[in-house]
Amino acid sequence: MTTTTLLDAVSVAEGDGRAIPDAATREVLGYAPVHSIADLGRAIASARGAQPGWNARGHSARSRILHDIADDIEAHADELAVVLSREQGKPLNGPNARFEVGACAAWLRNAADTVLEPETVLDDGGTHAELHYAALGVVGAIGPWNWPMLISIWQIGPSLRMGNTVVVKPSEYTPLSVLALVEVCNRHLPAGVLSVVSGNREVGAAMAAHSGFDKIMFTGSTATGRRIVEASAHNLARLTLELGGNDAGIVLPGTDVSAIAEGLFWGCFLNTGQTCAALKRLYVHDSVYDEVVDALAGLAASMPMGVGLDEANVLGPLQNERQFEIVRELVDAARTAGARVAVGGEPAPELGPLFYRATVVADITDGERLVDEEQFGPVIPVIRYSDVDDAVRRANASAQGLGASVWSSDADAALEVAERLEAGTVWINQHGVINPAVPFGGLKDSGYGHEFGVAGLKAVSAPKVIIR
Ligand code: NAD
Repeated sequence: MTTTTLLDAVSVAEGDGRAIPDAATREVLGYAPVHSIADLGRAIASARGAQPGWNARGHSARSRILHDIADDIEAHADELAVVLSREQGKPLNGPNARFEVGACAAWLRNAADTVLEPETVLDDGGTHAELHYAALGVVGAIGPWNWPMLISIWQIGPSLRMGNTVVVKPSEYTPLSVLALVEVCNRHLPAGVLSVVSGNREVGAAMAAHSGFDKIMFTGSTATGRRIVEASAHNLARLTLELGGNDAGIVLPGTDVSAIAEGLFWGCFLNTGQTCAALKRLYVHDSVYDEVVDALAGLAASMPMGVGLDEANVLGPLQNERQFEIVRELVDAARTAGARVAVGGEPAPELGPLFYRATVVADITDGERLVDEEQFGPVIPVIRYSDVDDAVRRANASAQGLGASVWSSDADAALEVAERLEAGTVWINQHGVINPAVPFGGLKDSGYGHEFGVAGLKAVSAPKVIIR
């Protein structure tokens, strides 16, 4: 087994970089380079230099290379999953590290195979007008720490496919995962086409303001997203902003709880709750409220949590101390305000310093921080309602609008509610399930722009009208 080769290839010597902990044990996993703003300038210059040649190769050659990269990711899937599991904390098993690595290959193949043809927009006998999609130039890709490999691929795959070159900045919490992934990609790409700048938040800020980028693709918090919009006033870089979420789910009256319980659980606890489009507040009708709380609490109590390399586990730690403190603070505040902790509600120090038990908080309502703010951890507040219109109003009262879901045994009733929810994606009887062919993006403070499929290719293209 080659568990250390890729990690060794990207980790620098102690003293030359920043120590990156294993998320579960807090032992040093490796050392990430700390690139400077001068390094960023060099990466942009080589991306600019490489872009015309990469673009000139044409779609079919670029698509073939993306498939080659996907093949190589699959060939190194175990090794990549181990690096990801240790650095990010997500277990190998369940919808976690192996799943994320597999999805990287799937999303790359989709970017390779999706076709974006010129569109005829007018043909009236006198005028023939077509909309063509060309490369934009150099794309800056800034990512978060929760799904570090997959989100980087969402930014890299479509950008490369359309003939752009890319400079990636991983989160300072999870640089080794992205460096290892890019190491595999770069075995197939010409020099300069894809590079990584592994820097801190200042390097991210410098990227957002740099005139060398034609496009910034950003996934992260709403607060950082706002700073990127401000920075783009200077360089007019096009933006795709995938920001925070506080997704609501509504369980309608008369729903068969046993049929939805497991889907609901994973909607909330996917990646131990550290997922942008996870269920973060659940509105449940009075008639099934106790049953839903009991079902979720039962599942939360029985799901194995622990170190990611142990195949038994499907839930892991919080990735970093800051997020652990946010989760602890929000649950403590809810308890102090009188909410009922149905299960969990405390750290699990016997598992490691940053483990927090899967938690279900009942008898809580809007206005509590745990409901109004993004917890981004293994905790779900369950809110009782008696009137569906009122539940829809409360779900829509959030400033965020990433995802939402409706849960019901009545398909028509579910669709009627889905149409009224303000979110970029509304799921019925599922939550957070994504597909590389289906556009994904947020509304309101959750950002703007779409990723995936044809919409995703358009987002990294320069639209140009040709009239004859
Ligand atoms: P974050 O905003 O703190 O950091 C994200 C990235 O931005 C990091 O690489 C960071 O170094 C960089 N950065 C920091 N300051 C910057 C600046 N001024 N300019 C440019 N870049 C800067 O987010 P995070 O804590 O890593 O991620 C968690 C958040 O991301 C949550 O809110 C989550 O909901 C959101 N998220 C959204 C999606 C989505 O698709 N909508 C997906 C995953 C995560």
